[in-house]
Amino acid sequence: MDGRERGHVRVAVIGSGFGGLGAAVRLRRQGITDFVILERADAVGGTWRDNSYPGCACDVPSHLYSFSFAPNPEWPRNFSGQPHIRAYLERVTDIFGLRPHLRFQSEVRSLRWNAEALHWEVETASGSLTAEVVVSATGPLSDPKVPEIPGLDTFPGKVSHSARWDHDYDLRGKRVAMIGTGASAIQIVPAIQPDVQRLTLFQRTPPWVLPRADRRISAAEKWLHTKVPATRAARRGLLWGIREMQVSAFTKRPERLGLIESLARNHMKKAVKDPALRAALTPDYRIGCKRILLSNTYYPALAQPNVDVVTAGLAEVRGSTLVGSDGSEVEADAIVFGTGFHVTDLPIAKRVTGVHGTTLAEEWKDGMEALRGATAAGFPNFLTIIGPNTGLGNSSMILMIEAQLNYLADFMRQLDVLGGKIALDARPSAVQDWNRKLQQRMTRTVWSTGGCDSWYLDANGRNSTVWPGTTGEFKKVTRQVDLAEYEVLRPPKPAGSSTGERAEVAV
Ligand code: NAP
Repeated sequence: MDGRERGHVRVAVIGSGFGGLGAAVRLRRQGITDFVILERADAVGGTWRDNSYPGCACDVPSHLYSFSFAPNPEWPRNFSGQPHIRAYLERVTDIFGLRPHLRFQSEVRSLRWNAEALHWEVETASGSLTAEVVVSATGPLSDPKVPEIPGLDTFPGKVSHSARWDHDYDLRGKRVAMIGTGASAIQIVPAIQPDVQRLTLFQRTPPWVLPRADRRISAAEKWLHTKVPATRAARRGLLWGIREMQVSAFTKRPERLGLIESLARNHMKKAVKDPALRAALTPDYRIGCKRILLSNTYYPALAQPNVDVVTAGLAEVRGSTLVGSDGSEVEADAIVFGTGFHVTDLPIAKRVTGVHGTTLAEEWKDGMEALRGATAAGFPNFLTIIGPNTGLGNSSMILMIEAQLNYLADFMRQLDVLGGKIALDARPSAVQDWNRKLQQRMTRTVWSTGGCDSWYLDANGRNSTVWPGTTGEFKKVTRQVDLAEYEVLRPPKPAGSSTGERAEVAV
């Protein structure tokens, strides 16, 4: 044996971030141990492994941004930093016995449905295998997006992306250009500003920024959360409940969000005294249209004398000169792209070939869509964790992931109940119906009406990323697999069709 992956597994999970590890725990709890976790890197953690930029932290409180089945009474802060979240995922891996399932350096190169055998043929960087079910948990924030900037290759200095921080490169004393004003950039700016010689922020669109109610979690609180677990649950419940109550403003009554805009304006006013800079930093769209950002240090950093804000996108690079779309020119030694991720054009989709010989990316050329955020027609026994329209604008993605894990667990149970060699393929009519209703609801949301462009929208302006409801509602609609929404595939008879026999099931 050359150590390369071989053989057949019941389930192949792709990715070992919150989604992949959660899926693995759920499978084990269901008594399924015949699975592997295929991970392209050499450690678990997903986006919390890859994002290690200075200041990286989560802006959702840790007691909510963690698995309900793996509470951590020891969270150090309300909003814990990346090292603590990453360490938490390492502990989850150990405590739930997931190490033996992990296959590192195993980037999935292709997944091809075999209609005769009713399984997936999986090619990875470490070899090939077949799997009855594939759980794609690659996440939407895993592949960095760097815009195509003319002349970028002529830049003689350091070019990096927020999600691929080079800790060996010293920014101290350098002229640094930060590109973008998203959740990543606003954490990086205050973290590096004191050390760099000059910081130029290329701001294409100003974000709405609210105060961040962060604080250390006291020893007494930790003690209480350890000794009296109900206090931990109550804390989580409160954090959850407050966010659930906010949802209708985002999805049905965006005008109500206007009240929060004055909070954000005051927050800026306290730190930025220069009216011209304040005007430049004030958004002209409804708060919530783009992700609302939380920071107490972003505005104070921008008000420092070594910081310039260019109110334009980076349009061109000529050697060490960066040119804004307004024609402004800036000299820089280093460029940091905080330009986000390939969210609506998931790279994994190009690698998955389904029943009809087309890839998921081809099927999704007019926009991603799935049934209940998980399954796509023509891709049997293939489930996505954090699939289309499962993102949130205001709460913890772990709640959505756990709801999808319930769906995965029931999917596996249904396969067992139906018995034999079998696959479930989402009916096109069910996928269409689900998405038609979803898009109808989308028309009233702040993401569609707020007057901004965001990564929530795809190239056609369609929102294929965010869930237009509460997390409670999503949990309810993903509790069980409705077999009426699926075609049941069984292996073809010897002289049968190449796509497998589709059998109706009484439900
Ligand atoms: P992002 O929200 O997609 O932001 C990308 C930024 O790059 C935008 O400000 C965009 O401007 C800008 N941009 C793109 N091309 C540009 C150009 N040529 N010149 C100037 N600016 C340009 O990416 P992100 O900040 O990495 O955040 C992505 C998501 O990750 C977040 O929304 C959040 O869900 C997650 N995240 C979470 C946390 C957390 O605390 N939990 C922290 C970091 C990230 P426009 O606005 O004009 O498009």
